[in-house]
Amino acid sequence: MAIVVQKYGGTSVGDTDRMKVVADRISRAHRDGDQVVVVVSAMGKSTDELVTMASRISEHPPERELDILLTSGERISMSLLAMALHARGVPAKSFTGSQAGIITDAVHGRARIVDITPGRVKEALDGGNVVIVAGFQGVSQDTKDITTLGRGGSDTTAVALAAALDADVCEIYTDVDGVFTADPRIVPAARKLEIVSYEEMLELAAQGAKVLQVRSVEFGRNHGVRIHVRSSFSYTTGTWVGPEEDKVEDAIISGVAHDTSEAKVTVHAVPDRPGVASRLFTTLADDNINVDMIVQNVSSDGRTDISFTLPRGDADKARGILEPLADDIGAQSVRVDEDVAKVSLVGAGMKTHPGVAAKMFGALSAAGVNIEMISTSTIRVSVVVAKSDVETAVQAVHAVFGLGGDATIEEG
Ligand code: ADP
Ligand code: ASP
Ligand code: MG
Repeated sequence: MAIVVQKYGGTSVGDTDRMKVVADRISRAHRDGDQVVVVVSAMGKSTDELVTMASRISEHPPERELDILLTSGERISMSLLAMALHARGVPAKSFTGSQAGIITDAVHGRARIVDITPGRVKEALDGGNVVIVAGFQGVSQDTKDITTLGRGGSDTTAVALAAALDADVCEIYTDVDGVFTADPRIVPAARKLEIVSYEEMLELAAQGAKVLQVRSVEFGRNHGVRIHVRSSFSYTTGTWVGPEEDKVEDAIISGVAHDTSEAKVTVHAVPDRPGVASRLFTTLADDNINVDMIVQNVSSDGRTDISFTLPRGDADKARGILEPLADDIGAQSVRVDEDVAKVSLVGAGMKTHPGVAAKMFGALSAAGVNIEMISTSTIRVSVVVAKSDVETAVQAVHAVFGLGGDATIEEG
């Protein structure tokens, strides 16, 4: 008997009619004899609505309370889905993350799963039930408080559960047909990928392709989980995420990702002497601020500019930390630019093909897009551009590498 984990995202369970459609699909798998574990997201945009509500009550809601609030969205969908299955004569039991044994560290808002003890899930499965687990949440081992796994975290609940249960497959049901060569909402001509490697998917997800949360891909890679990203609105095959050797086509480039969630910080005229960069970035790290791209200019007259990107949500906090520090180290000023976007080209074939970055920069230049920062890895080239240029930039880079095809998307 196969164990199948199916995860349904917000649009897929956006209203009670969608809930019924999903229940039909789950019933089918159950009737076919599979042991089915379902991970659900909150309905539609309800997590955003809960965040907005909290921000109306308090400018800085306590993280513990915010996490409890946000997990309620998934509780609504898990129980409604269980009811929809019962109405179809399918036995089903829903569990919160904590009940399902999703054990995390104590970091509210972006907790990491440290262990899974799925005793109750297994017991309910063995009792012939469809098991429904609320995504995006767990319980801290240390504080016993309820935690959330970061936005998009239901993907990680699903892949981690699939690993813990040694499931045959983890199906991620969403509102597009699979993983595309670019976000199909920005590039209508984007093409669905048949197979994408864990490494490429990690880069795409880390660079903003939110179709899978980065940590879900890490779990998939570390535990060899077969992930099938597909649409809950059709029965067509989606995209398989797996090891590099599964890939049949040998494309140089897999896709283009974009991210509009970062801000750029520049510390001007920093004294160019040992220890200064270390002090800047240690201070930010001590305050839990995750820095992404870093560029230091060539120095002149013993001074240099240091620019870096960070999550936009941390920009104010970083400014508050850096302004006094800049004074202290004798730097001139701190500037924060929130109107930036990052565009990244990803492909395993880059390792062996020279000229990829040059071709990308040529396309941006022809489209009149100015590059503000550049960073690379062995399988990625990323640039920071003005936020107003992001669509033009993604489309230009996608076109110059001939990545096109057709896409079908559902409105959320
Ligand atoms: P869900 O609610 O199902 O988890 P998400 O909104 O988190 O769905 O992720 C799906 C969305 O990811 C798509 O609607 C699409 O706009 C976006 N996306 C960004 N990049 C890509 C990509 N390369 N391929 C597919 N979808 C992408
Ligand atoms: N509901 C959560 C979010 O909107 C988790 C998820 O959908 O994966 O981020
Ligand atoms: Mg998602």
